[in-house]
Amino acid sequence: MGTLPFFDDSEIRRVLCVVAHPDDMEYGASAAVARWTAQGISVSYLLLTAGEAGMRSLSPEEVAPLLTQEQRAACQEVGVQDLTVLGLPDGMLQPDLETRRHIARQIRKTRPDLVLTQPWELQMGWGLNHADHRAAGLATVDAVRDADNPWVFRELLEDEGLEPWGTDWLLVANAEPSHLIDVSGEPAEPAIRSLQAHEAYLAGLGDHPDPREMIEGMTSAAAQHSADAAASHALGVAAYRM
Ligand SMILES: [Zn+2]
Repeated sequence: MGTLPFFDDSEIRRVLCVVAHPDDMEYGASAAVARWTAQGISVSYLLLTAGEAGMRSLSPEEVAPLLTQEQRAACQEVGVQDLTVLGLPDGMLQPDLETRRHIARQIRKTRPDLVLTQPWELQMGWGLNHADHRAAGLATVDAVRDADNPWVFRELLEDEGLEPWGTDWLLVANAEPSHLIDVSGEPAEPAIRSLQAHEAYLAGLGDHPDPREMIEGMTSAAAQHSADAAASHALGVAAYRM
C-alpha cells in the first residue's frame, strides 16, 4: 500500500451513503461520517434492505423493525438525521435496473457532491464478500451515472420531477484504498458508539469482536499509511472522480 494521500473533502457539502444492510456503515465508514457532520456537511443514508434475514434465531418480521431502530440510534451517534431504509429483499439483493432506479432516485433527491458505498469485489482481505454487499456496491456505481443521464430512467424526471444530478466523487469504504480520511481524535469515538448501537444484532452474532477494539484497530492500522505522523486514526477509501 505504501503512503497514501488524504482525500480532500474541503469542497464537499452533501454526502449520500448507500449500503445493503443496517450496520454496514458502522465498520469504519461512520468515522468519516462523524468527521463530515462535525464540519457541517449534510450526510444521508440509504439502506437498500432492512437486514431482516440477518438473525438466524429471529424471524424477518421481528428483525426488520429492530435493526431499523438500531440503525437510527447508530445514525444519531454520528450526526445523521436522514435515514431511508428501502426494504428490498435482504439476502437477495440484485444490482438490477430496479435497484439502480431506487438509488438514482435518491441521488437526484439528495443531490450529493459525494456518494459513498461498499466494495463489490468477491474477495476481500477478510474473506468472501457478501452477495448483497457486492450488489449494493455495483448498483451504486451504475446509479451514480444513471442519475446524471437525462435519458436513463426518464420517468424520474417526467413523473417525479427529479432533475438529473452529477455527483463529483464516488468513495468505496474498506476497498483497496487510494486515499485516507483522517478520523483522528473525536471522529473515532462516535464511530465506536455507532457500532455499539447495533446491540441486539451484535449479541445475536455471539462471537463478534469488541466494537472499540475493532474500530480502534482498523483505523489505527490505516493511519500507518499516512505521511502525516499526527494522524493516529484514518479510514482507507478508494476514491473515483466521476
Ligand atoms: Zn452487511
